[in-house]
Amino acid sequence: AEESSHSYLQLMQSALSLSSELKTILSCHRRQVPNDPLPNRSFHGSHTVEVDPPRVGIIAKPSAEFVAGLWATWLCKGIAVPLALSYPEAELLHVLTDAEVSVVLGTPDHESRLLEASRKASSQFCLLPRVKIFDGANQGDTDESAPSYVIDQLTGLSDIEGTTPGLIVYTSGTTGKPKGVVHTHSGMNAQVVKMLSEAWQYSKDDRFLHCLPLHHVHGLFNGLLAPLYAGAMVEFLPKFSVKGVWRRWMESYPSEGVKESRAITVFTGVPTMYAYLLQGYKTMDVDAQKVAASAARQLRLMMSGSSALPLPVMSEWEALTGHRLLERYGMTEFVMALSNPYSGQRKAGTVGNPLPGVEVKIIDDDPAVPGTGELCVKSPSLFKEYWRRPEVTKESFGEDGYFRTGDSATRDDDGYYIILGRSSVDIMKVGGFKLSALEIEAVLLEHPFIAECAVLGLPDIYYGEIICAVVVLSDEAKSQAAANGDPPLTLSGLKSWAKERMAPYKAPARLEIWEEMPRNALGKVNKKDLKKRLTI
Ligand code: ATP
Ligand code: MG
Repeated sequence: AEESSHSYLQLMQSALSLSSELKTILSCHRRQVPNDPLPNRSFHGSHTVEVDPPRVGIIAKPSAEFVAGLWATWLCKGIAVPLALSYPEAELLHVLTDAEVSVVLGTPDHESRLLEASRKASSQFCLLPRVKIFDGANQGDTDESAPSYVIDQLTGLSDIEGTTPGLIVYTSGTTGKPKGVVHTHSGMNAQVVKMLSEAWQYSKDDRFLHCLPLHHVHGLFNGLLAPLYAGAMVEFLPKFSVKGVWRRWMESYPSEGVKESRAITVFTGVPTMYAYLLQGYKTMDVDAQKVAASAARQLRLMMSGSSALPLPVMSEWEALTGHRLLERYGMTEFVMALSNPYSGQRKAGTVGNPLPGVEVKIIDDDPAVPGTGELCVKSPSLFKEYWRRPEVTKESFGEDGYFRTGDSATRDDDGYYIILGRSSVDIMKVGGFKLSALEIEAVLLEHPFIAECAVLGLPDIYYGEIICAVVVLSDEAKSQAAANGDPPLTLSGLKSWAKERMAPYKAPARLEIWEEMPRNALGKVNKKDLKKRLTI
């Protein structure tokens, strides 16, 4: 309790003092926007025009400073725009100018780079104050894999209400240039309080180990805002590291039935993290493995999302830790909408059912296959609009007010939803058949020689599209190749293996073996880019 109130107070003080500084800067700063003679004024000539609240960019590694920046922005009634330090210069400038960011809040780590980018984007750079958080678990943050900050209970600092916009999150850019998604305070509130905390039973007894980026909804809502509203503790591991995660779990539960006072209870990650954690486990010695497996078993909840969870990862994880990963489905535009149940059957290969308050429907795209087609969502947490893209916003809503996700889905016999992938990149049309790349990837990942894989359709004059599998070989394949010199995986070999497991027209017609899978910050593969690289 002492730790809680202490951390809470420190953070609140930092946010408050930052907000008064920010208010002053915002009142002086005038963005030079073309065609707008009086930017940021609410009175324009003889009539009042509606002016968007100022945008404040926040760029820092996941930390208490980041949270102070977020809350300070909301205290100034601004719109927070979370940014990533990992953005290449061009992307950073795209977001800063697209969102017309007035002020960039950042830490000294990358000051010169951020100053330069802010200048180019006509934004003002402002340093985030150092937040000293009481953290008995670790002092100092020199080791990237060590948890550096602990924060908690922000409830009451800013009452997140009303239909005013409070946040712009940029999409991952998997299918095009990232779009700014505008969320209102009431939408965020509904998501955080009514949906996530309730559905997954977050409480003040929880302690999250957080190692996701904060410029996407997974890390921001599921891993930070929802736990804070439930009164839970959030511990940041500023950068995901296999060793760092295993170490914190093992410190939390040093032996069977022993729970340390700062024990981690909840973990949420993307599928690739679980795949890496499994690999990391295999490199431990036998004694460490025993402690690791028993520690992982003692967490309360482990969740996966952001992209499809491969079945082999799910089943290996369950065999090792006893946790049936809770898979859910979300999108920048509505945060989370479908989830497997907290209690009740979690079905592999599905994303469960609508969260409280969410309505979904599927628009059949082929009358011959009823129940399969575009997934559409209505939710209290639905975004307001795409920032400065009224046409795109209009197109993405049906007349019935449902948001069209662009994802293709279907339901199993129990009514659980199955995501077949993005209509634009994951649904392939091969010789008249409509095929799901995610379904084929799931099968190929069962091949002992395939560690990672991405399936996509490449243009073909005879079939419309042909299936191409880009794979990264497993260690087993590599050691076999080293032993006898033969290529471990060939197209014909893969085809005959696949024939036993799926319809012949689903087997890849082209095989690409790559050293590494190109993935973004959330572990997603940009298939549009892949396609370009493979068709040149
Ligand atoms: P962009 O919209 O810029 O092309 P993006 O759609 O990848 O990028 P996000 O909003 O971060 O940007 O990701 C949402 C998408 O992630 C969903 O539309 C869906 O395709 C995918 N997704 C999320 N969770 C799952 C899941 N559990 N299984 C399969 N796909 C998922
Ligand atoms: Mg999208």
